[in-house]
Amino acid sequence: MSKLFEKNLASFSLRSEKSFGRKYKEDPPKLRTEFQRDRERIIHTTAFRRLEYKTQVFVNHEGDMYRTRLTHTIEVAQIARAAARALQINEDLTEAISLSHDLGHTPFGHAGQDILNECMKNFGGFEHNIQSLRIVDKLENVYPSFPGLNLSFETREGILKKCNKTHAKKLGDVAMRFLKKEQGSLEAQLTNVCDQIAYNNHDIQDGIRAKKISLEQLSTVSIFKNQMNLALKEYPKLSKSKIVNETVRRIINLLVGDLITNSKKNIEKYNIKSPNDVRICEKEVICFSNEMKKENMNLKRFLHKNLYKHPDVKKMTDKATIVIRDLFNAYSQDIDLLPKPFLKHNMLKIKENEAERVICDYIAGMTDRFALKEHKKLY
Ligand code: MG
Repeated sequence: MSKLFEKNLASFSLRSEKSFGRKYKEDPPKLRTEFQRDRERIIHTTAFRRLEYKTQVFVNHEGDMYRTRLTHTIEVAQIARAAARALQINEDLTEAISLSHDLGHTPFGHAGQDILNECMKNFGGFEHNIQSLRIVDKLENVYPSFPGLNLSFETREGILKKCNKTHAKKLGDVAMRFLKKEQGSLEAQLTNVCDQIAYNNHDIQDGIRAKKISLEQLSTVSIFKNQMNLALKEYPKLSKSKIVNETVRRIINLLVGDLITNSKKNIEKYNIKSPNDVRICEKEVICFSNEMKKENMNLKRFLHKNLYKHPDVKKMTDKATIVIRDLFNAYSQDIDLLPKPFLKHNMLKIKENEAERVICDYIAGMTDRFALKEHKKLY
């Protein structure tokens, strides 16, 4: 079946039938490819459902119109799939990696991750990317014959987009490329860039909607200004919300178009013929042209300075820091505050002196609203 479904893929694409396989042996799926099976397992996890109530930049209860981690994830998957098809690389694998790329995020976005990492500094630290892998490998607990989701090697390797050497040594084969200084697959590289395209652009829209940044401010960023002017030239009487929408639409189109064209050029330039050529290539193959890299970087810098460091956003992140630190301290002082079934499931780890990791997993899995509710209950 996978031969039929993957017959249009280029020679440098990963293929289900050549997968390095799953940790626990399973019969091949009858009506879909291995990577489709991965994608479908990811969608049915509790971690995936909880993305709906996790912050991207704005807290979920601030309004129903803002992105959440779930809508962000769907946008990444949409952009990445379209680009994967244009590049003739594996769309199912790209989608599986995209849908799982943010599973490991804590409540309250990056602020949550930073404080949880600080709480865990003497116990191995916390990194959302490694947590995503931990969720699909170990924490999801639904199948009778294996822990986690037993995903194929290529999906797991794609989820792990960065990793330091200490962690890589502990994680084994899935992290080997970080020790060997090899590249991720084209599907993994693509997801990574599409993640950036998605969040930069939706943060513009959400930032304007929340009145934290203005059109005037954004007009200092050349890519925004140019695309807005083109939109206004074609539609001079556009309302403000449609100007934003049309400009963002054009920027995404421009970035994705540049990404596909430039990546195709790189495939030629580096003489990429097989997945192994990608792996041993000195440079990343999927990337913007130099000109677009600069434009994109300017946009990123703008958002960093004007949106992520905006006093109102900072107020939210300060609150997040307090909530997470308090929760960590409360559970550390009395581990019996954790729910009974969770405690029972993790008893062995707690006995083996891994109580902090168990607490960390519990907090990282929380949604924003659950963390706030739990904090109110305990303090
Ligand atoms: Mg993301």
